[in-house]
Amino acid sequence: MTSVSKSDARSEEAALYRRLYKTAQWQRIRQHQLATHPLCQWCIEREVVTEATEVHHAEAHRGDVELFFSGPFISTCKPCHASRGQLEDNGKTVVRYGPDGWPI
Ligand SMILES: [Zn+2]
Repeated sequence: MTSVSKSDARSEEAALYRRLYKTAQWQRIRQHQLATHPLCQWCIEREVVTEATEVHHAEAHRGDVELFFSGPFISTCKPCHASRGQLEDNGKTVVRYGPDGWPI
């Protein structure tokens, strides 16, 4: 009996995310989003004005390439993205960010 070894779906997914975030297409989307929405939209909800430096997927893309590139997107500052972004993803996909700003 040979057993079919299942590939590690989770690490494959993480690798896919890393690839997506490094594409020129994502860089263009990110720059366009930050240029058209330069303020953190979550801070604005609290009547705080903060410069946005990150782009959050308003809908969890779960590795769906079409959704990843089509959005909708939300401009956020780093602290908002780190806290609220992970809260929203709690129980779903938790994306952690390395010191270089890319998901690990
Ligand atoms: Zn913020």
